[in-house]
Amino acid sequence: MKDVQTRVEEVLSLVHKRNPGEAEFHQAVREVVETLEPVLEKHPEYGEHKIIERICEPERQIIFRVPWQDDNGEVQINRGFRVGFNSALGPYKGGLRFHPSVYLGTIKFLGFEQTFKNALSGMPIGGGKGGADFDPKGKSDAEVMRFCQSFMTELYRHIGEMTDVPAGDIGVSGRELGYLFGQYKRITNRYESGVLTGKSPEWGGALVRREATGYGAVFFAQDMLRARGDDLAGKTCVVSGAGNVAIYAIEKLQALGARVVACSDSSGFVFHAQGLQLATIKQLKEVERLRIASYVEHHPDAEYHARGNIWSVPCQVALPCATQNELDEAAARQLIANGCIAVSEGANMPTTPDGIKLFLEAKLAYGPGKAANAGGVATSALEMQQNASRDRWSFEYTEQRLRNIMRSIHDDCWTTASEYGQQGNYVLGANIVAFQRLAEAMLALGII
Ligand code: NDP
Repeated sequence: MKDVQTRVEEVLSLVHKRNPGEAEFHQAVREVVETLEPVLEKHPEYGEHKIIERICEPERQIIFRVPWQDDNGEVQINRGFRVGFNSALGPYKGGLRFHPSVYLGTIKFLGFEQTFKNALSGMPIGGGKGGADFDPKGKSDAEVMRFCQSFMTELYRHIGEMTDVPAGDIGVSGRELGYLFGQYKRITNRYESGVLTGKSPEWGGALVRREATGYGAVFFAQDMLRARGDDLAGKTCVVSGAGNVAIYAIEKLQALGARVVACSDSSGFVFHAQGLQLATIKQLKEVERLRIASYVEHHPDAEYHARGNIWSVPCQVALPCATQNELDEAAARQLIANGCIAVSEGANMPTTPDGIKLFLEAKLAYGPGKAANAGGVATSALEMQQNASRDRWSFEYTEQRLRNIMRSIHDDCWTTASEYGQQGNYVLGANIVAFQRLAEAMLALGII
């Protein structure tokens, strides 16, 4: 029998060899696999059945051409992806990302993270992810519609409410999901609401799904602080991004009495000492689809920093809610020096490995994305429940369900980290809880 350390090294080198050039995927796998040694030592059967090796190899990977016509009549060609990562616990579930930087490695890293997150959520869902290298920024509604229709014309044959259930991610929210669902319905001749989540509440979507990822990340921060006898009221916070996750994180932070002084987009960040005005951000981002720079036209006492580093703004609580690797070692050092006590990740893998190391060494309350942002997918699973039973739950009831799920995720991570002698290490707790759920299901289902 190989020793555990050798097995871990072999898994990592296999992943590199099989997936050349996919740096984010390598990073996501390493971050998980390196924390699993204690659980592999305790359960040699996981090694014997090559559970990790199987988890690191997606069950299926689909790549397809997405041709469409722009408003000038010119033909454009994008590349679409859907990766079904693991279906041991339920149908593949995970969002679609439309962003010019998307390639197979992005989707694999997100699908891998998603598999663990979904297991951690305790809901009956497997892990998957998809998207395209399409940039919705600056496109007309008609162009976005034509793109979505073409994308779904291929994707529809691979998805289904019992097979694979996509949702939104960067660049995909209510508008895109509407066009995608419209085309799915048209092609299949079925009003199969449960095939996509994050839909508008007017046509099958769940209340609270739009808010769920941001709210959930704030609930996770609240629980981490509670475990230390502290809370969010009166805390100064910084939230990166100004998209779906960031906006609703800001909303819940403010509702809980925190003061959010900065947010950003990919062009720069705004700092507003008296506290951000959320109504302005919603108007700029959700309605007018403008850059965050315009915020200062409405609030002249705020500052805009083009291409600035948002993590230089002093805060007690930080919520990275933009994108992967947006918070590096230098930023982590700066946050710690400025007195930050908690980081709750709304985005997927926003902190680099060196940044995470610093947070853990400094014993910050650090909630990794796969735990802290699981509220989005958990509420998607609640949307699937409502679609399956043709029911519709109230906002208050659904939010309470989300609150309870986030509390369970927190407590599961906390208890497991403590069992393994690392109290307060949510990275270890999250990875082990999720891995054990996946491993037990995969053992039960045989070698498939
Ligand atoms: P949106 O597209 O709504 O917003 C993304 C925000 O992040 C925008 O403000 C965008 O700015 C900014 N951003 C994107 N890419 C970059 C970049 N390379 N550098 C700097 N800023 C960038 O996406 P979401 O809010 O849905 O997603 C944000 C994060 O949360 C992602 O990591 C996503 O995977 C994760 N997540 C989302 C969930 C959801 O339910 N939506 C669920 C769980 C996780 P700009 O407009 O200038 O590009």
